[in-house]
Amino acid sequence: MDNQELWQATLSKIEFNLSRPNFLTWFQQTGILNAEKNVVTIGVPNTFVKEWLENKYHKIILHALREISSDIKEVIYIIGKPDVMNTTIFFKDATKKRLKVTPSPSPFDGEELSIKEFVLNPDTNLNPRYTFDTFVVGSFNELAHAAAQSVIKNPGMNYNPLFIYGGVGLGKTHLIQAIGNKLLETNNNYKVRYVSSEKYMGEIVDALKNQDMNALKDKYRAFDLLIMDDIQFIARTEKMQEEFFHTFNALYEKNKQIIISSDRPPQSIATLAERLRSRFEGGMIADLGLPDFETRLTILKTKTESKKISIPEIILSHIAKEITSNIRELEGALNKIIITSKISATPIDLEGAKKIIATYIAAPKKFTSAKKIIKGVAEFYDINEKELMNHSRKKDVVKPRQIAMYLMREELKTSFPSIGEKLGGRDHTTAMHSCEKIAQELKISSELEEEIRAIKEKILLL
Ligand code: ADP
Ligand code: MG
Repeated sequence: MDNQELWQATLSKIEFNLSRPNFLTWFQQTGILNAEKNVVTIGVPNTFVKEWLENKYHKIILHALREISSDIKEVIYIIGKPDVMNTTIFFKDATKKRLKVTPSPSPFDGEELSIKEFVLNPDTNLNPRYTFDTFVVGSFNELAHAAAQSVIKNPGMNYNPLFIYGGVGLGKTHLIQAIGNKLLETNNNYKVRYVSSEKYMGEIVDALKNQDMNALKDKYRAFDLLIMDDIQFIARTEKMQEEFFHTFNALYEKNKQIIISSDRPPQSIATLAERLRSRFEGGMIADLGLPDFETRLTILKTKTESKKISIPEIILSHIAKEITSNIRELEGALNKIIITSKISATPIDLEGAKKIIATYIAAPKKFTSAKKIIKGVAEFYDINEKELMNHSRKKDVVKPRQIAMYLMREELKTSFPSIGEKLGGRDHTTAMHSCEKIAQELKISSELEEEIRAIKEKILLL
């Protein structure tokens, strides 16, 4: 096996663990420069990628290499590019290249792209990043924003509880935490607690295990402001709802403010206990809709300003025009452009940005990977992951397997040979037929449509 083959085989293993955009970002310009005496030297395009691979992906890389060749003991990363055509190694220094070739300065010159680390406040669990300074208001979130302001003026008195709902990435967490941060800013004795419903349930489980339930109850009942994020998850268990109901009442009776977020309005959370529903409906309910083009553009401008990066308006307009789904995606696309520019050490131009946006739109959701698809499908149908891979022709395995293939194609744009490979070394024609079959069936079966939607949701939560 030569270096190129070794790296190809390694990459196909690494790819399995990462989302497609991540994989492309960090691995597309890498190669093995040298492999001898148990040491593999990997060439990377610049220091940025070098540091990233060393810090984030070293374990995965080493593990993947060792799976192929167990003698490998060490991996080192250096800036350089293997020139495969000539089989000679040709080093390109990204810094020199930038100085020589780039006509206008890169947006990073002078100012390194710093991804600021915000530290969570251990008492409140709030992230100081979420403030009103960086929260853009438009018609899509006007009502929720106004209700938030009203709560800040008079916590516990006006709108209790404040119930904010909306789809993913539309600013629920940002808004509800901004209220907490603001109240804390004006009065740092104010006892604020931000918690996701999942974390809250974890705390209950632990307390039950350690017979510490009273301490937990006391803790929660002493807060001046309780912010519970993503309440929809709590509706899955009665016991948790009951616990929350008591805490809710204790706070409510003392005029303590409660803020709740959810992905849907109370009446649409099917398993929500009636008494909680009516409590929620007794307060203020406000939704977060989708931002329009102008607001999307303003959001992008705010983000570039806070990152101290200047990007031509025409490029920001293009992003705002193309990315319409939610604010998280909008930010993701912007970051992708910034990072790509940084990696290639060339300034951002419209042409380049368009290409990146095109692949970004075509790319899977940030958190999807082949591994997660397999896991999600197996869990959904309650079968073993191995059964999806093996050659069983049982009907209750065949369909899930086809769905897994279909999702890999749709969500990850994986090639048919690679899909076949990932599902137990099947032929690419099998993968092709499976995807085709599911696509056809989807046209006529709303049941299948619903199943696939639910599976996708499940995968996103993995
Ligand atoms: P949700 O909780 O609804 O899924 P988040 O609050 O996590 O969404 O928001 C996703 C991302 O979008 C975050 O990085 C957040 O800072 C940003 N964001 C959301 N709403 C706004 C807004 N109105 N202005 C600026 N940034 C926003
Ligand atoms: Mg959230």
